[in-house]
Amino acid sequence: MDIVQNPTDIQQCAGERRRSGQTIGLVPTMGALHQGHLSLVAAARAACDFVITTIFVNPKQFGPGEDFEDYPRTMESDLDLCRAAGSDLVFTPAVCDMYVPGSSTTVEVAGITEILEGQSRPTHFDGVTTLVAKLFNMTLPDRAYFGQKDYQQQMIIRRMVSDLNWHVEIINCPTVREPDGLAMSSRNRYLSPVERDQALILNRVLEQADQLAAAGQMSPQEIQTGMAETLRNAEGIEPDYAVVVESESLQPMEKNFGCAVALLAARVGRTRLIDNRILTFAE
Ligand code: AMP
Repeated sequence: MDIVQNPTDIQQCAGERRRSGQTIGLVPTMGALHQGHLSLVAAARAACDFVITTIFVNPKQFGPGEDFEDYPRTMESDLDLCRAAGSDLVFTPAVCDMYVPGSSTTVEVAGITEILEGQSRPTHFDGVTTLVAKLFNMTLPDRAYFGQKDYQQQMIIRRMVSDLNWHVEIINCPTVREPDGLAMSSRNRYLSPVERDQALILNRVLEQADQLAAAGQMSPQEIQTGMAETLRNAEGIEPDYAVVVESESLQPMEKNFGCAVALLAARVGRTRLIDNRILTFAE
């Protein structure tokens, strides 16, 4: 497995592969890898000739007072995990090489970035789309792999790819969970044992929403109200949002049937977690 740090080198490596007819799969991550990330690498491995995993804690997607400095950095074990999962190359650039002094371009998707996560973290998605756009330009992948765990992020990246005419297929990979249902996240390691237990309510609320939607007795709005109330009453949980929205636009449902997504964010102690679930409302 090659390890590349310089943007010019990755551009050259990916270009050589592309010219020799290989398909390129890209898996962008911030490291502190877990089975969720590795499921993306495995999906890329199964479908692409050349798999590039990127590990970069992107300062531009952290707001003031967020956990950029504290974000877990576990490069040695990440590289071992990438190797074992079948990555061909890991790109681990330095911040000063990704954002050279004087760089002043931001890729900004309007609308869908301004709600939910975007409301709580106003500059977050500009950081994500700017970085992902740079990674796409450096590697020109055939496919790029993203987790459903970051549902809004994935919809934003799909919008950006369509708007900017990139020929990259965005592949959605299901959320990988711990055996007790907690969505895997690099930030779970911030949780104390008590908080880890309290955090289980997030998945439970989503499971319940799923069952209620399938049963067809309650409207999206009623389910949303129930989710918010359960989270508000849960010990140790400070909810940020809990919504049931149309699965593509992330706007309120206009009808009481069809495909929706339940999305939530909450603080457990000082750790902010997100999770979601696709719901199907019976007609
Ligand atoms: P991150 O390192 O948190 O930026 O995540 C990198 C990629 O891994 C994103 O596409 C995430 O959606 C995805 N990811 C993170 N956690 C999970 C999970 N539990 N299951 C599946 N994908 C995940």
